This record gives sequence, structure tokens and C-alpha cells, in this order.
Amino acid sequence: MSTLSSVAPAGFDVEKIREDFPVLKQKVHGMPLVYLDSAATAQKPFAVIDAIRRFHEVDCANIHRGVHELSQRSTAAYEETRSKAKRFLNSRTKNELIFVRGTTEGINLVSSSWGRKNVKAGDEIIISAMEHHSNIVPWQMLCEEKEAKLRVIPMNDRGELILEEYEKLLGPRTRMVAVAHVSNALGTINPVRQIIEMAHRAGALTLIDGAQAAPHMRVDVQALDADFYTMSGHKVFGPTGIGILYGKTKLLNAMPPYQGGGDMIRTVTFEKTTYNDLPYKFEAGTPNIAGGIGLGAALDYMTQIGIDRISAYEHELLLYGTEALSEIPGLKLIGTAREKAAVLSFVIEGIHPHDIGTVLDRQGIAVRTGHHCAQPVMDWFHVPATTRASLALYNTTAEIDALVDGLKKVKEMFS
Ligand SMILES: *Cc1c(COP(=O)(O)O)cnc(C)c1O
Repeated sequence: MSTLSSVAPAGFDVEKIREDFPVLKQKVHGMPLVYLDSAATAQKPFAVIDAIRRFHEVDCANIHRGVHELSQRSTAAYEETRSKAKRFLNSRTKNELIFVRGTTEGINLVSSSWGRKNVKAGDEIIISAMEHHSNIVPWQMLCEEKEAKLRVIPMNDRGELILEEYEKLLGPRTRMVAVAHVSNALGTINPVRQIIEMAHRAGALTLIDGAQAAPHMRVDVQALDADFYTMSGHKVFGPTGIGILYGKTKLLNAMPPYQGGGDMIRTVTFEKTTYNDLPYKFEAGTPNIAGGIGLGAALDYMTQIGIDRISAYEHELLLYGTEALSEIPGLKLIGTAREKAAVLSFVIEGIHPHDIGTVLDRQGIAVRTGHHCAQPVMDWFHVPATTRASLALYNTTAEIDALVDGLKKVKEMFS
């Protein structure tokens, strides 16, 4: 078996990184925890846990409204995350970054607010065959309401989108193209720069679901020229219940508010309400203040390690895992795209994924089994479910070895 140093790029000390994640230091069913479910949610480093705790211990107050010291501190800390997110996503200004609950809410905000105003009967929305339910259902709901049409970019056997087919779907009726940057079920990294360019040439807007890209690779919304880009805090080592929606200023300004309430208004009378400026126009009510502050700490954490170094390390880990799993007889990887990140989805002939997951759990190994909120992907590959091991910056080759050993035990038990 290879050693850690054989995959770690220079300066990437995974053992030191693991020290930052208290949850990883436990035994499950008497075995050291091997956490391979970061695509569902990533674990949190001390930096995030401490930032949330500090907020509640020292600064806790509602934001944007108070003149008192605690409210000013809370507001500053919360708004500082917007500045950090601006650097993380390379947006032009921080005012085009809207705090939302997560990727799901980011997509729903756009489908509701932009969609209601701009989509008419006979218009078309394009998504892809590998979308998470979050990037299918909101568009389906919009299409149903507006009598618009949902069209789907197909993929090949490796789990790569077929761009020639996409080109054929684009037309004068296309209003929006919404695709994942990285697929949570397959790990495919989509060529979103090209997908966006093709959409723009057809006069359509684009929304990129960045939930699985942000934890693993550098994202630059300006370089991509994305119209909307959305991500979840809990997948980038931050807390749940907070995420970011990026939108181009011109588009956000032209959109009606998503929800009404406090903070999103400038003046309210019973006759008429005027709305606040960006980004507050889209942020009604008391937000997840602690979550926002925790997310800021998470973005700092990733930035300090270095996004490119994280990508390089995970790439090596993925290659190692792909090779190791391929040697298990009867195991078939689902999703073998040439450009791939952090996900090893597979089936083993004759053994139900649920049984695989249960036996692995008894050995302390946490994987996910099921459809991964992407039932159409399962249908396409003619499998009811897969077992998915998903990687993050704290995983090691030793953990992949443990997974392989665990799968050998599964095979012994079920054959
Ligand atoms: C997790 C995920 C989502 C949904 O994110 P939430 O945080 O649950 O809102 C959407 N798309 C992809 C690709 C995901 O991995």
C-alpha cells in the first residue's frame, strides 16, 4: 500500500489538517471513524466552531439595526463574510452576493424571482441529466406555472455532458441554462465556461450550481461569466443553514424581491413599500447570523490552506481511490468522466448498496448509499442506487485502503 507522502503535493500536511477537525478523532463501533461522506456535508474545523461560539459568547446581537456596540460588532462580523466571499468567488462587488440558506434556496430565489418575471409560455429552460433535485424541481415548478418547457442535456456512458446535443437544444426560446459545476452523484466537472458561453451566444442566461465545486476547486464567477452562481456553506466546512447566491448586479437589480419582511425594505406604509438596495433587497428577516460568521471562518480556512493545493491533493487521492476500487472484482464505478472531482460512486454486482453501507458502517466507515438526490442519474445508469464515497481535504490514502478492506469484507459476507 502506498504512503501518504506519495500522494501529498509539497507542503500539504494532511495529518496536520486532520488535527483541525475534532469530529474525526473518534471511534465508531470501536473502529476509527473513516468519514467518506463530505459531499453530503463536510466536517467543521475548530476555526469555524470557535467563530460560532465566540459570536454567541461575546458579540451576540441582531444586525443592521442597532446603534449599540454588540449590534455593531455582529453586523461587522457578518458583513465581513460578504467581503471574504467576494474574494473567494471573485465577484466584482460584495453587493452582488446574497446570503441564502444554501444552494437549494439560491436556485429557488432565482427560479421564483427572476423566473416569474422573465419566463413566459413556450419559453425553454435547459438543465442537464446529472442535476441534483435542487436544480431540477424549482425549474420544473416554474415551467409548470408558466407553461414553459424543460429540456435536458444528455450525457454519455462516462457521465459527461454531450455538448453537441446541448448546442441543438439552444434556441431563441431558451431563457435559462442551469447546470452543476460538479456533479454530486458522479463527480463530473462540467465545462461550465464553455456551457455559459454557448448559452450567452443563444441569448440565454445561466445559473451554475456550485455546491460541489466550491469545496474542491477555485471558482471565479467573472472568469466563468456566470450570471448566477450558488453554493452551500456546509459543504465548504462551514455550518448548515447558510449559503451564497451570486448574481450579476444588473440582473439582481431588475428582479423583484424574493420574500418580504424586515431588512429588505427602505420605507413601508400601508399604501406602498420601497425596497432596499442590493444585497439587502433579497435578505428579508433576521438571517443566520452565526452561520454567516461561521461561513466566513470556513472560507478563511480554505484560503489559508490554498484552494489550488486542496485541488491537487484531492486529485491524487481520487486517482489513488479509482485505482484501488477498480481492483475489486465485480465493482463498477458509476461516473468515469475525464474531468472529475472527489466522488467515487460505485455498484457491486449482486450486493445492494444499502447492505454495503451497513456493513461498512460497522467498520466505522461512513459512506452514502441511495440515489444522492439525483434519481435521473440513477435511471440513466440503470441502477436503483449507488454507494458513494466522497472525499475532502482531510481524507487520506490510508482511509481509502480501509474502504477497500471493508469492501472485501462485504464481498465475503454476501457471496
Ligand atoms: C448538496 C447539493 C445541493 C443542495 O445543497 P443544499 O445545501 O442542500 O441546499 C445542490 N446541488 C448539488 C450538486 C449538491 O451537491
